[in-house]
Amino acid sequence: MLSTMQDAPLTVTRILQHGMRIHATSRITTWTGEPEPQRRSFREAGERASRLAHALRDELGIDTGDRVATLMWNNAEHLEAYFAIPSMGAVLHTLNLRLPPEQLVWIVNHAADRAVVVNASVLPLLVPLLPHLPTIEHIVVSGPGDRSALAGADTAARVHEYEELIAGRPASYDWPELDERSAAAMCYTSGTTGDPRGVVYSHRSIYLHSMQVNMSESMGLTDKDTTLVVVPQFHVNAWGLPHATFMTGINVLMPDRFLQPAPLAEMIEREKPTHAAAVPTIWQGLLAEVTANPRDLSSMRHVTIGGSACPPALMKAYDKLGVRVCHAWGMTETSPLGTMAHAPAGLSADQEWPYRVTQGRFPAGVEGRLVGPEGEFLPWDGESAGELEVRGPWIASAYYGGAGGEPIRPADKFSEDGWLKTGDVGVISPDGFLTLTDRAKDVIKSGGEWISSVELENALMAHPEVAEAAVVAVPDERWGERPLATVVLKEGATVGYGTLKEFLGGTVAKWQLPERWALIPAVPKTSVGKFDKKVIRRQYADGELDVTEL
Ligand code: AMP
Repeated sequence: MLSTMQDAPLTVTRILQHGMRIHATSRITTWTGEPEPQRRSFREAGERASRLAHALRDELGIDTGDRVATLMWNNAEHLEAYFAIPSMGAVLHTLNLRLPPEQLVWIVNHAADRAVVVNASVLPLLVPLLPHLPTIEHIVVSGPGDRSALAGADTAARVHEYEELIAGRPASYDWPELDERSAAAMCYTSGTTGDPRGVVYSHRSIYLHSMQVNMSESMGLTDKDTTLVVVPQFHVNAWGLPHATFMTGINVLMPDRFLQPAPLAEMIEREKPTHAAAVPTIWQGLLAEVTANPRDLSSMRHVTIGGSACPPALMKAYDKLGVRVCHAWGMTETSPLGTMAHAPAGLSADQEWPYRVTQGRFPAGVEGRLVGPEGEFLPWDGESAGELEVRGPWIASAYYGGAGGEPIRPADKFSEDGWLKTGDVGVISPDGFLTLTDRAKDVIKSGGEWISSVELENALMAHPEVAEAAVVAVPDERWGERPLATVVLKEGATVGYGTLKEFLGGTVAKWQLPERWALIPAVPKTSVGKFDKKVIRRQYADGELDVTEL
């Protein structure tokens, strides 16, 4: 028997129209580095998105299913592209402007992007690549910055100015009726090994994910909030925030290219966001900044931290500043919201703590299971560690196979029954809280036992003189692998390895304590700000680290 309910497609267009009409006066504020930021209402941004869609269709000839790339910071124009491109039936392809040039070239060619919208400040990165990007027919330049690099560019692509392109075009668009399962946006994984892989989000997955982002068990924001979106729009759709804001009218504060701790602290003090989202390294940097130069962060009641494990010491430090951190886990393949660590009801602050430091619970749209080394399903007993697999309506079922190609389902990424293999290892408690102990490839396998590099890092970063710490497995004749602790000390700190090892001994079993130690100036980071452990492993193998054995 069928239901009697209407069947309205769940599309990005619907989110855009809702935001423009119902939350017309909500605001997008973009930091400019000038005394005044740029301010734009949702209605204005929506109208400009309509103008952009007209321009893309009528002037650039962008058609249904065509890929339009963005190479942009977080700003209002990027948000306009977020809505215009999918709503007209084309596919938004966000490019990570921190990727090595050869990866960017590979990705643009693989996606066969026809046009790219680029911030002028990023032109020095794009222009040298143009001779290698034969599919790009149009370059749309937006925002302040020198355009002179384009003058001698080796490309047949036509160059347009964003503002000139959209000027005078209609402020409304007869948006097409789209299949909710059609492609709306795509994002390639950071690809630490092998070629990057393209995840293609559907209108439906974005719609459902946005609803989840807005639920109070996730970020739970409303039109009374302002969110500071530090997580880049090129990194998993800025964790779904841009779409989620138009659903509930959340005001948006966009940092553009001002991502250093000092301007971030200034924008928080001046614009008073109630929420912010970023990876732990951003919060580490901001903490160091406000410790040196105190700022009023009190507006920011809560922040979402994810992308890599949040050190509990960092959470505690923000607790002291009155900023409540909520830890979240996700991946490019999971849109990204996979879990969030809100403690269950009815607990004291002390009782909440062990829940808050986990990766959190799955929302109703995400199912998880743990798989052991022999492929067996493990119990949720808080002890049995295995690889996490997930499935749900905003989880990838395959990677993009290129124009005309079949979707790709590598056996190491998808189970035979269609679950995503996350590559993350952890345990799940009987009440459903996930604790990740490592990436499968980062686990230290010492004499048949596993050592969690994350646990050692967290314990080290709890030391008051340690700014950052990364632990990697290094080959060991006797044990197979042993941990190497690389440590970044805070300015002026003098603590020795022996003291640090003793300090670790307070929380970690003796046999897990690292024998090898090295001081480093900074932990190498990936293009999205995560610890890049493969660089440390290589530096160790090449003898570039000054290692002390204890
Ligand atoms: P990406 O697709 O680049 O966002 O990377 C996803 C990966 O980041 C996950 O598979 C995890 O290994 C890692 N990750 C994300 N969030 C967390 C977290 N809260 N704790 C630990 N690892 C995380």
